[in-house]
Amino acid sequence: MYGKIHEIYSSISGEGISQGIPTVFVRFAGCSLRCGKTETKQLWCDTPYALGPNQGETKPLASIIEEIEALDKDHGFQILLTGGEPLEGQNRDLSKSIAEFLFSYRTKENKPYPASRVETNGSEKITLDPYFIFTMDYKLPGSGMEDRMDLENFQILEKRHNSLDEIKFVVRDRIDFERSIEVIREQKIQTNILYSPVHGEVDAKELVEWIKIDNPPKCRLSLQIHKVLWGNQKGV
Ligand code: SF4
Repeated sequence: MYGKIHEIYSSISGEGISQGIPTVFVRFAGCSLRCGKTETKQLWCDTPYALGPNQGETKPLASIIEEIEALDKDHGFQILLTGGEPLEGQNRDLSKSIAEFLFSYRTKENKPYPASRVETNGSEKITLDPYFIFTMDYKLPGSGMEDRMDLENFQILEKRHNSLDEIKFVVRDRIDFERSIEVIREQKIQTNILYSPVHGEVDAKELVEWIKIDNPPKCRLSLQIHKVLWGNQKGV
């Protein structure tokens, strides 16, 4: 079992409902989306260094588990599988194996955070597996990637009924925000909802005003705390 890994490191979770929790990040290389890139606008992806599969090293399951345990010998940290895209191509089976192994060990040993959180871009099918918790993006029109979204994922989230799952909307402008409200209504979303502004394009305070007016269920503003603490550095 192999996959392409860009980096493995420990820090705190930067966003969402797990913000601030000590976390081991397993960053996969390879993502077929290109968020935000249009004829006139720039890619907004904050991990451009992990977009190509060749931007990672081929690693087997055993060596990844070894690296996780070197950073978290007592198995007390949350595990975050991120990217790139951890559910794309050969990374998908490796993500499952990592999460399944840790879930089984941590459950048996009564450790915290048995399930691994997966940050996924919404274009890959999520699963009902209990060893995963999902932070799933829904890409809005401003990303140029909305037609790549797999709408069946909303039904899977409903079936999972996991209070730790979350859906993330990254908002570039007012059109994006209005589309998010439509999607929430059309899909009858009950999962936690995160709103993040595209840096430099939407003022977070303006986004708060929009959220206050529509007040979608279970929603919150999510700013990236690691950028507040360390700026645009990698591996923190
Ligand atoms: S899906 Fe994520 S990793 Fe892929 S281009 Fe978009 S922001 Fe970057």
